[in-house]
Amino acid sequence: MREFDVAVVGAGAAGLSLTRCLDRMKPRRGGGVDGGVALIEAPPGPLRAPARTWCFWETGGGPWDGVLAARWDRLEVVGPGGDRVASPIAPLSYKMLRSTDFEAHVRAGLSDRVAQVGAAVEEIEDGPGRAVVRGRDASGEPVEIAARWVFDSRPLPALPPARTTLLQHFRGWFVRTAADAFDPGRALLMDLRPPQPPNGVAFGYVLPLSPREALVEYTEFTRAVLDDAGYDAALRDYTGRVLGLGAFEVTAAEQGAIPMTDGAFRTRAGRRVFRIGAAGGATRPSTGYTFSGIQRQAAAVAGALARGRTPVPPVPHRRRHLAMDAVLLRALDSGRIDGAGFFAGLFRRNGIPRVLAFLDGGSRLPGELAMGFTTPVAPMALTTAECAWRALRPM
Ligand SMILES: Cc1cc2nc3c(=O)[nH]c(=O)nc-3n(C[C@H](O)[C@H](O)[C@H](O)COP(=O)(O)OP(=O)(O)OC[C@H]3O[C@@H](n4cnc5c(N)ncnc54)[C@H](O)[C@@H]3O)c2cc1C
Repeated sequence: MREFDVAVVGAGAAGLSLTRCLDRMKPRRGGGVDGGVALIEAPPGPLRAPARTWCFWETGGGPWDGVLAARWDRLEVVGPGGDRVASPIAPLSYKMLRSTDFEAHVRAGLSDRVAQVGAAVEEIEDGPGRAVVRGRDASGEPVEIAARWVFDSRPLPALPPARTTLLQHFRGWFVRTAADAFDPGRALLMDLRPPQPPNGVAFGYVLPLSPREALVEYTEFTRAVLDDAGYDAALRDYTGRVLGLGAFEVTAAEQGAIPMTDGAFRTRAGRRVFRIGAAGGATRPSTGYTFSGIQRQAAAVAGALARGRTPVPPVPHRRRHLAMDAVLLRALDSGRIDGAGFFAGLFRRNGIPRVLAFLDGGSRLPGELAMGFTTPVAPMALTTAECAWRALRPM
């Protein structure tokens, strides 16, 4: 059995981000990962996460700038009636990263302190001094790895119990149009003109890569996913009736369903075993954005290990933001607010940069309260009271 300081299970956004942080960490007295790191990813097959694109925003330059697929410094939001808010988002930039480029970049930069292992993990046995990860490699041979700390990013078998759970579910087409149709200097973050579901919200999303190429997505925040025909019909309506793209070909597609839940994620799964990434509560419940939370969580874990502390991954969102998100999810799910009107009004009254700062945890309480008063006050106050009441009662 091979022994390491740390085993990271899963080489998706969270596993790769954490492994890179650990490999680059500067140990303080009593800390570090001198015993090495094992990064364990499932061999090609059904367990492997499909390729995807990650979008996120940050101030100025960042560690992934060299491998971005695109970045935009202007964003636009279109309301249900066609009213537009467009603005520069400086000092922020909105960035797009392909998971394949990210993985190649991180793996190529890892030192020989990291063992890159291909194995489908079947079991993690916790213990007082170490945990043992067991799985099988591509040829079916058993693999056993012992580590002082194990960080598991495999998807959870079930979501935590919650009062409200919606899905951010979507299908996107990478399109190539016959004539110029896009402004590559500006991304359309939320276009609320598609027909709206009775509860929740539906919107389009356009990320231009050139005057004739873009990722165009149809997204809903609702309880259940659509079937193939449903997504295709929604995308045909959006690209045709709403955007008027004319002739185009679809060069690739991506699809996903990200849980948006007020359930509490536990990142400690044992004495030596922890959960990270989407499985470790990194998804912001009100948006489905996860990538930035993953970066904060990875940095916190590496910081704890560098100091020789127990590296319990933090859920990378403030409690009050999670509470506010719980109210929004409930208000959407109950149909108490009109989702399209809510988001259009939020961006129109506060401006895109302030809303983005709030959604990434970078806002302060007074500004958040002021933002709260720009939303439909009566239904949101009623929903806040309902959430507070429900929080007092067992689930
Ligand atoms: C299509 C799509 C687009 C998204 N776009 C965005 C976005 O634009 N911005 C954003 O912030 N968030 C986005 N998200 C949400 C979130 O960022 C991603 O889901 C992200 O990939 C989560 O990272 P993760 O490491 O937690 O999980 P994953 O990236 O899914 O990684 C889990 C890893 O575990 C591996 N694995 C699974 N089972 C085993 C096993 N038994 N043994 C070994 N390895 C195993 C998988 O192969 C995978 O590599 C998107 C999600 C999807 C599905």
